[in-house]
Amino acid sequence: MSEMIKKNVNDLDLNFRYEIAKKIGAKSLLKCIQCGVCSSGCTVTEYVDLQPHRVVASCLLGLKEEVLSSKAIWTCSLCHRCTERCPKNVDYSFILALLRNMAAREGKIPKEYSSTVEVIYDNGFVVPYTEGMKKNIDRRRERMGLPEIVPPNLDDIRFIINETGLGDLIIKKEDDK
Ligand code: SF4
Ligand code: SF4
Repeated sequence: MSEMIKKNVNDLDLNFRYEIAKKIGAKSLLKCIQCGVCSSGCTVTEYVDLQPHRVVASCLLGLKEEVLSSKAIWTCSLCHRCTERCPKNVDYSFILALLRNMAAREGKIPKEYSSTVEVIYDNGFVVPYTEGMKKNIDRRRERMGLPEIVPPNLDDIRFIINETGLGDLIIKKEDDK
C-alpha cells in the first residue's frame, strides 16, 4: 500500500497538469473523476508503487517529483486496458508514455532501460550478440535450420539513437571511442 504524502502547498507544481495536458493527446487527463476503474483492471496493479488512478490524481495535484520518480511509470506494461475501460476516456497509457519521456529528460530512468539502449548502441541487438552469446545463438539457430543472422547497420542505428536524443541516456557515445 502507498504511504500518505504530506506536502506543503508551496512545494506543489500546480502547472504540472497543464504541462501534461497541453501535449497532443493528453488533454483527457483533466477529465478524470477518480473512479478507480483503471486501477481495478490494471494488469500489473500488485507490482506498482502508485496505482494508475493515484498517478493521475498526483499529476492533477501537482506532485511532479513523486510521479516522475515513481516506479509505477516504468512498471506499466502498456497493455492499454486502463485506457479501454476508462469511463471518461482518459488515455492513461498514452499519458504514462509521456511521463516516461519527461522523467527520462530529467535523468530519472531505470538502469534496465538505459543499459538496453547501451546494448543496442554497441551491437545493434537488444541482447548482446557477441562472443560466447553469439556462438550459442548461432549454434542453436543452425540446429533448428534457421538462416544466419544478418548484422544490422550499426552506423544507421547509432544515428537514430543520437538524433532522437535517446543517446543522451547512455554513457557511451561515438565521441568517446
Ligand atoms: S478510470 Fe479514468 S476516470 Fe477513472 S480514475 Fe482512472 S483515469 Fe480517472
Ligand atoms: S496500460 Fe499500464 S497502467 Fe494501464 S492497465 Fe495496462 S499495465 Fe496497467
